[in-house]
Amino acid sequence: MKKEMPIYWGEMTREDILCITRYVDLALLPVGSLEQHGPHLPLDTDSFDARYLLEEAVKRIDGDKPPILPTVSYGVSDHHMSFSGTVTLRPETLEAVIMDIGRSVATHGFQKLFICNGHGGNTSVLNIVARKLKKETGLLVFIDSGECMEPGKKKFIDTENDVHAGDYETSTSLANRKELVDVDAIPEKEMTFPHPSMAFDSKPAFNFAWDTHELSSMGVLGEPTKATAEKGKKLWGSGISLLAERIKIVMNMKGHL
Ligand SMILES: [Zn+2]
Repeated sequence: MKKEMPIYWGEMTREDILCITRYVDLALLPVGSLEQHGPHLPLDTDSFDARYLLEEAVKRIDGDKPPILPTVSYGVSDHHMSFSGTVTLRPETLEAVIMDIGRSVATHGFQKLFICNGHGGNTSVLNIVARKLKKETGLLVFIDSGECMEPGKKKFIDTENDVHAGDYETSTSLANRKELVDVDAIPEKEMTFPHPSMAFDSKPAFNFAWDTHELSSMGVLGEPTKATAEKGKKLWGSGISLLAERIKIVMNMKGHL
């Protein structure tokens, strides 16, 4: 009996990959982190969520689906190292890993790579890698570093600077992995910035290299006490639809800009 084509690269045979490149020139890559997420959320939140988003988005694509590569489960998290459990890559290590994944994917006939990045600390490295891979291999790299979740965030999250283990991430975790959220450990809001103009949501933004413990002794940037699973479901719903739309746009492009 002919088996159904899996959606995960790792569950396919080499023949499946040969076959799929006749119809699909796009591969999907979740990239996350292994880092402290306050006293109440699991360390792999960013990795789990990046893959979850891609899985759910792919379910909404009819016909031939782009394959999902195994998650890059470590990221650039040196700013969380003062909290236990964080394991970080150096930026150059992440760059080397993504470059090699991109080179491999391009060798096997894929012309495009869509990275779903669950961790802000990876963003600048990924943007550099996208340029390098295009120059070296011609591979077109598209990156969503949480942009697909932004419209939902604007609508459902009213705490400013809610970027890490706050209302947003605690709500989305309550919606997709309730059993791993330690609800009794959810801390009160507690964060300070060196100057109001350096707050993440200040306009115009004024970036600086911060360590999480300098801004919050709890390692939480946001207001997790406001989190609910209902809000999380709405956030996922909005983000998944937008991501699916973007993947479809990229699928329909003919391997060049
Ligand atoms: Zn996170």
